[in-house]
Amino acid sequence: MQLENYIEGKFIPPFHGNYLENLNPAENIVIAQIPESTAEDVELAVKSATNAQPIWSTTPLNERIDWLRKIAAALDLRKSEIAMLESIDTGKPVKLAERVDANRSVSNFTFFADHAENLAELRFEMADATNYVIRKPVGTVGLITPWNLPLYLLTWKIAPALVMGNTIVAKPSELTPLTANLLCEVLDSINFPKGVINIVHGLGSIVGQAIVEHPKISAISFTGGTATGKIVAATAAPMFKKLSLELGGKNATIILDDADLSIAAQGAARAAFTNSGQVCLCGSRILVADAIYDEFVEKLVSEVSNMTVGNPQLTDTDIGSVISQEHMNKILSYIDLAANEHGRILTGGKQLSLPKPNADGAFIAPTLIDRIPIDSRCATEEIFGPVATIHRFSSDEEAIDMANLTQYGLAGSVWTSDTERGKAVAEQVESGILWVNTWLHRDLRTPFGGVKNSGVGREGGDWSLNFFSELTNICVKDD
Ligand code: NDP
Repeated sequence: MQLENYIEGKFIPPFHGNYLENLNPAENIVIAQIPESTAEDVELAVKSATNAQPIWSTTPLNERIDWLRKIAAALDLRKSEIAMLESIDTGKPVKLAERVDANRSVSNFTFFADHAENLAELRFEMADATNYVIRKPVGTVGLITPWNLPLYLLTWKIAPALVMGNTIVAKPSELTPLTANLLCEVLDSINFPKGVINIVHGLGSIVGQAIVEHPKISAISFTGGTATGKIVAATAAPMFKKLSLELGGKNATIILDDADLSIAAQGAARAAFTNSGQVCLCGSRILVADAIYDEFVEKLVSEVSNMTVGNPQLTDTDIGSVISQEHMNKILSYIDLAANEHGRILTGGKQLSLPKPNADGAFIAPTLIDRIPIDSRCATEEIFGPVATIHRFSSDEEAIDMANLTQYGLAGSVWTSDTERGKAVAEQVESGILWVNTWLHRDLRTPFGGVKNSGVGREGGDWSLNFFSELTNICVKDD
């Protein structure tokens, strides 16, 4: 498979004619060549997007909403292909990609179509005047997304940007370009207006940087690691671009002493190991009340040991490979570090060698480690793999302090049989998203995003639509 950039409604080769190899990490084989684009390709994409801007931004909202529904319908027909491509590109189980990635990639469009349709009018009456707020598009926007949920996160930005009348230059992660390409095929197949969505493949440091730096791109919506987020912010902030940053996490799963331990163990295992722990919301620090520590840990270890790690294409696989050999080595180095810090490996802790065709794949057994300090590197740095550390606490206050002992503040969950107690703990955790007795339960209307080094701004519902519009207040004095 050879992919091309999608600019002005055409699939075109990169300016310099260079390509990168794209690998299937579960088999360690090359599956595609993708453009190694440069600033020249970004320039072309920006020209295409700015040319399309006057027509798209003046297309009536109801027509833009119709386009979102057309994209959703066309993507829906290719859902099983989306799941298969995400699975071979990321190494995640195909059944997970069907349930999560494929469904959300479609529903992001239907959700924002519905949401824009029902957008409340903003009006503020004064004694002698009326204020009303209109929404104008920001212009041409740059969207940069990571590899863990490729089409899911890309469409989560594309749909609200489109419906608010912006034109788009987007760069998917170079590790997972396949479904962004499928989206371009879908746009082509429905004769979507040319130039409104442009996709440029390539390296973040070159293509991503060129997008962030481009003076004609008025807003950047970025999801990725905190270190990259800093570079993006340092470039975009002095240019006064609108900026949305969804960054890393080191989320706590807090098990209070009155929790139903079987349910909490299932919840904690799911929170830690979904997508091999490569979800920004994963609960990679499990904080457990002293009184129930041994009983809970036994249940958790049994839950995790029963997870099937294997060929992502098989339907009984719970955990596939991680994203790359390089990432696997980084994760293994954290496990070594924990062992050096006198951590106890309760289960996992090693690379797995699987039969063909996965013999050279990047597989790590889901790993639970305890007896390491809560302020150790493994317990504070984002590992972003199938590794969770377990820590003991003796009071709710101590659990909250431990949860907050990190530079990150994205998400977390609290498990208890007393909802009020759970809410009281959740409200004191410094994070943007907290769950009580559940995890990853999402209503797309709610604000999504982090505090501290987990990001700036919120996505979801009105927050996404506000980010992708310039709100203009018009105050009319009464006659
Ligand atoms: P990276 O930060 O490495 O990359 C994210 C995107 O940024 C990629 O497309 C990357 O391109 C691009 N990029 C890299 N350098 C630059 C640059 N200088 N300028 C502009 N763009 C650049 O993150 P990962 O892809 O490794 O994703 C994992 C991270 O994403 C984790 O930290 C995770 O927590 C976070 N994440 C956060 C979420 C949230 O909602 N808060 C959701 C999902 C993930 P390339 O890949 O080609 O280098």
